[in-house]
Amino acid sequence: MFSNKESFKQAYLKKLMEGEGITAEEATHWDKFSALVGLLKEKMSYHKAMNTISISQGKQIYYFSLEFLIGKLLLNYLVNFKIEGLVREGLSELNINLDDLLEQESDPGLGNGGLGRLAACFLDSMAFLGIEGHGNGIRYKYGLFEQKIVCGNQVEVADNWLKNGYPWEMRKYNKAVIVKFKGNVRVEYHEGETVFHHENYEQVLAVPYDVPIMSYDNPMYINNLRLWSAEAVSGELDLTSFNRGEFNQATSYKSEVEAISYILYPDDSGRSGRELRLKQEYFFVAAGLGSIVRSYKKKNNTCSLQDFSRRVAIHINDTHPVLCIPELMRILIDEERIGWDEAWNITVNTISFTNHTVLPEALEKWPIDLVKSLLPRIYMIIEEIDRRFKEDLTRKFLDDQEVVHNTQIFRDGYVWMANLAIIGSSSVNGVARLHTKILKNEVFKEYYRIFGYKFSNKTNGVNHRRFLLAANPKMSGLITEAIGPNWKEDAEELKKLKKFKDDHSFLEQIAKVKYENKCRLAEKVRSKQGLVLDPSSIFDVQVKRVHAYKRQLLNVLKIMHLYNQAIDDPESLTGSQTFIFGGKAAPGYHYAKVVIKLINALSQKIEQDPNVNQKLKVVFIENFNVSQGELIYPAADISEQISTASKEASGTGNMKFMMNGALTLGTLDGANVEINEAVGKENIFIFGLNADQVLDYTRNGGYKPWDEYHANPDIRRCVDHLRSGFFDNLGEEFRVLYDSLLIYNDEFFVLKDFQSYLEMHAKLQKLYLNRDAWNRISLINIAESGIFSSDRTIRDYADWIWKIRYRTVANLTF
Ligand SMILES: *Cc1c(COP(=O)(O)O)cnc(C)c1O
Repeated sequence: MFSNKESFKQAYLKKLMEGEGITAEEATHWDKFSALVGLLKEKMSYHKAMNTISISQGKQIYYFSLEFLIGKLLLNYLVNFKIEGLVREGLSELNINLDDLLEQESDPGLGNGGLGRLAACFLDSMAFLGIEGHGNGIRYKYGLFEQKIVCGNQVEVADNWLKNGYPWEMRKYNKAVIVKFKGNVRVEYHEGETVFHHENYEQVLAVPYDVPIMSYDNPMYINNLRLWSAEAVSGELDLTSFNRGEFNQATSYKSEVEAISYILYPDDSGRSGRELRLKQEYFFVAAGLGSIVRSYKKKNNTCSLQDFSRRVAIHINDTHPVLCIPELMRILIDEERIGWDEAWNITVNTISFTNHTVLPEALEKWPIDLVKSLLPRIYMIIEEIDRRFKEDLTRKFLDDQEVVHNTQIFRDGYVWMANLAIIGSSSVNGVARLHTKILKNEVFKEYYRIFGYKFSNKTNGVNHRRFLLAANPKMSGLITEAIGPNWKEDAEELKKLKKFKDDHSFLEQIAKVKYENKCRLAEKVRSKQGLVLDPSSIFDVQVKRVHAYKRQLLNVLKIMHLYNQAIDDPESLTGSQTFIFGGKAAPGYHYAKVVIKLINALSQKIEQDPNVNQKLKVVFIENFNVSQGELIYPAADISEQISTASKEASGTGNMKFMMNGALTLGTLDGANVEINEAVGKENIFIFGLNADQVLDYTRNGGYKPWDEYHANPDIRRCVDHLRSGFFDNLGEEFRVLYDSLLIYNDEFFVLKDFQSYLEMHAKLQKLYLNRDAWNRISLINIAESGIFSSDRTIRDYADWIWKIRYRTVANLTF
């Protein structure tokens, strides 16, 4: 990319001059940051132009997702191009500190949590593996809100991430697509053919902004994340009203249109059944498919879509992009004049679907009338898909009313999006083995009987180059020293670390890196929030969205118990512990907001108590996002993965912690099951009910939280804190939590798992005193984390779903 430091410096200064017309002395940090990004982009497009070979044989993968939580890009791209050192030194000779420039980049909050982060990890791994795989999403003007904690409460601040511009993106106005809403459909019979005319619609212009995706050591493959922005079609501005001075009317069209890509819905694993959300979904689907069809025809020099599914794969991340199915049908039938049966074959063979959750409230459904009025032609197509599916089904399952009833797309006045997704795609996958089993046997069991061949598991993964190589440079250096650099390309190589498991001095080095990472986090938290952390205490961490099923409340009750113990017997606590929380609550999710308040109230209570504040500390880190995660995961000793078994589809935070050497304290849920298998049961700390037990209680009843409450004085004391004078006058506020446990029958089995959780946690506390034993487990966790690299996940998708080739270890230097 740059042959040496001098050539970098020259190119950089030139860029700064031509871009901003200024010298290094006059430029602000922002100018310098933009110039560096501009320079990298220029180099990338040069490499892109040189790219003539395609290992995936021209098949294009399009990953449709309403969320891409990509994090900052600059540092990763420097690491990926292997020029971080050269650039840092070069800049330093120009009196510029690279860290100041890295600070300038905004962290685009275009996702809520795990689902959006997964999409971003997949983009990296596709580029790394030489797959022509592109993202398709929305360029929200405002991302997920920024979280501030004021007097213990979450306060949401708008995330104006574009305020200075975003130098990575490239606006492509000439590639805009028109998207049509509302109106009516006129049916015409013409020479024995039925023709559909969509009329009186409202038009929206979808303008793409492209962000380059550049992975490790592979400048030949630069993929594209295409994010769509909604704009008014200029011809539609109501000039007559405008000229008459009726500005409101003239501008209302404009603001209605721009609302579509204005803001990300902030609900994780929940419904947001609003018209605007449905508009967002159709908007990015229609824009994406429109541009894919256009580029397909150009690239393949054809005007026929008959071979479409052999050269294009469209993957839908959860049901949010499921309108891809009727929209592709619409294009094939109405625009390409292909008959239904052939169009259906092409569509099903093109589309594959990933399910992300089994929580009933997260299964997407839309009121029939809303779909009908907003998308009249799409609605007709869904109706016809349903009609044909049922016709086919009744022939095969005539006698089985349950199958017929539970598989309909239309039910109780709603359109069920997962049903449409399963019927209209060739592949349905879950995201961890346990999750896939639950899909097959519970949530979609009728579909599994009909379409058994469509279902498979593809366990999630994370980008180990972002979350280990770049986020934890000291550990990476140590690993490379020990086993060489190949683990960066092939995460399975990390296994080689196991030969150091009895090497005392190596284990001490791991511990030293962990300590330094804890200091790094402590310094950050001190400068941002003014909180003091003690890096020699155990960092026990739970960072993720706040949700009842993730059971932050269980963690809090455990800390209350430790507090009670310390009050009763000051000698009972051995070492000192820091409990770190982070995570956002959906703004309308009252319960989750009260949990945040509770964490902060407990934090304060402990801080003010001189008898315990040397031993225990609770901190809530504001605004958990990807950038914070990159500091937090490498600094954790304990990774809290304590969801109610069967509720967390996979989790990916668990993998990021593991790969940075944290020990997992968790339930047998999601991918924890597979982590358990990878490291062996001596190297993970599992407690609580398993999924079968939870499902059995849910089906047959029999769980009585009051029994737990009465039988266990430790539980009783902690739970009573939620309504007694323990928190001065906050008792009323926490009543909703108390009620969830005892009045509403503890849906997530918090009290049931409490005792075994305490026991496992106590075991960890004791283990920490044995440094070598602890560090050995830490090492084994890192060593066995290779299968949780998203490179492995993407290879699974490529082999089994998309059926394409990719770079392998043997042809890496290809
Ligand atoms: C990885 C990640 C998540 C997902 O965490 P889980 O523990 O799997 O819920 C959420 N948010 C961010 C910012 C992440 O990086």
